[in-house]
Amino acid sequence: MKTNTICVQGGYTPGNGEPRQIPIVQSTTFKYDTSEDMGKLFDLEASGYFYTRLQNPTNDYVAAKIAQLEGGTAAMLTSSGQAANFFALFNICENGDHIVSSSSIYGGTFNLISVTMKRMGIDVTFVPPTATEEELNAAFRPNTKAMFGETIANPALTVLDIELFAKVAHAHGVPLIVDNTFATPVGCRPFEWGADIVTHSTTKYMDGHGAGVGGAIVDSGKFDWMAHADKYPGLTTPDESYHGITYAERFGNEGAFITKCTAQLMRDLGSIQSPQNAFLLNLGLESLHVRMKRHCENGQAVAEYLNAHPKVAYVNYCGLPDDPYHALAEKYLPNGSCGVVSFGLAGGREAASVFMKSLKLAAIETHVADARTCCLNPASSTHRQMTDEQLKEAGVPAELVRISIGLEDIEDLIADLAQALDQC
Ligand SMILES: *Cc1c(COP(=O)(O)O)cnc(C)c1O
Repeated sequence: MKTNTICVQGGYTPGNGEPRQIPIVQSTTFKYDTSEDMGKLFDLEASGYFYTRLQNPTNDYVAAKIAQLEGGTAAMLTSSGQAANFFALFNICENGDHIVSSSSIYGGTFNLISVTMKRMGIDVTFVPPTATEEELNAAFRPNTKAMFGETIANPALTVLDIELFAKVAHAHGVPLIVDNTFATPVGCRPFEWGADIVTHSTTKYMDGHGAGVGGAIVDSGKFDWMAHADKYPGLTTPDESYHGITYAERFGNEGAFITKCTAQLMRDLGSIQSPQNAFLLNLGLESLHVRMKRHCENGQAVAEYLNAHPKVAYVNYCGLPDDPYHALAEKYLPNGSCGVVSFGLAGGREAASVFMKSLKLAAIETHVADARTCCLNPASSTHRQMTDEQLKEAGVPAELVRISIGLEDIEDLIADLAQALDQC
């Protein structure tokens, strides 16, 4: 099936007389005839459901659709994008380990890795998204267990050179984890460029309607854990907390990562997506391919308009020919990037504030990738924990406005921007 068809029909194929739409299995638990039947599930000897914290059919339908969309072998939903990135990293990193991450990533993920995971004894080296192969190699240590980046970074809008990052990660025997939230699998499938694990904040385009916070993790099934057994004992040696199962042996490269992540991390940390939210996410996925096309068209038109406006100092949008990431976008995002555009007002911080206040259609929100246009000044909101130095390094200087272009009529959107710029 092609992407457009998977968006609509992937993950769930009803049998004769079964519901056409995915059923919401609003049940915490599942009934069995014998203790032995249930015991097999606990031992991971049979697949099935016993408690929704571990697995739920509604969530599994939607996870299966996302796995198909990304071209992966297994996937799981989480309660949020934050949980997805934490689980993806923590599934293979422990106290004493080290991560190499692009510095151009979502502020929440930057904090997760640089503050919270550091407190857990996991160190990080941030590398610029533009780093050369040599510079990337230099960031690795013997205890490095994962490399991380975002296909299109939120909010810096840099484009990751996935192939290069994957090449370097693999040269050091570690997987590349790519947060594909902004591109979505409609725009880019990181596994085709060598990424091993993909994560999503489904809160963004996948849901697309600002209705439910959620996340997803997808495994390509390609990383050979046993070939790097000494680095990943959690996958390649018996899990005493799970009846001595060795995940990589029992579930192979296709299933080990997601099974361990579910059986251990979801069991212990419990960041499950509710079946109700998974249902809403699936409604979003059904139109993802149609919506992304319009988000990209509107985003491109707004970027071009702003780029030509005298009160705008610069525009970051990889769809613009003079954008430093244009060549990477042509390679990785040939069908368009996303609807998020960022720009700096010539009048600086002050002008940004006046501009934001003057908008009528675009609302000030800490959200992006919604059907409704919204905007944000990261330095004074989502990224306010960062120093000026860190803001610059993360590609979000103080005067930057991020605008997430929705699905409204482009003439109305540009009229709104024009009147707000007149006030600046
Ligand atoms: C929003 C976002 C996250 C965090 O997701 P939540 O669903 O808000 O927890 C992670 N990565 C990227 C790229 C995001 O845009």
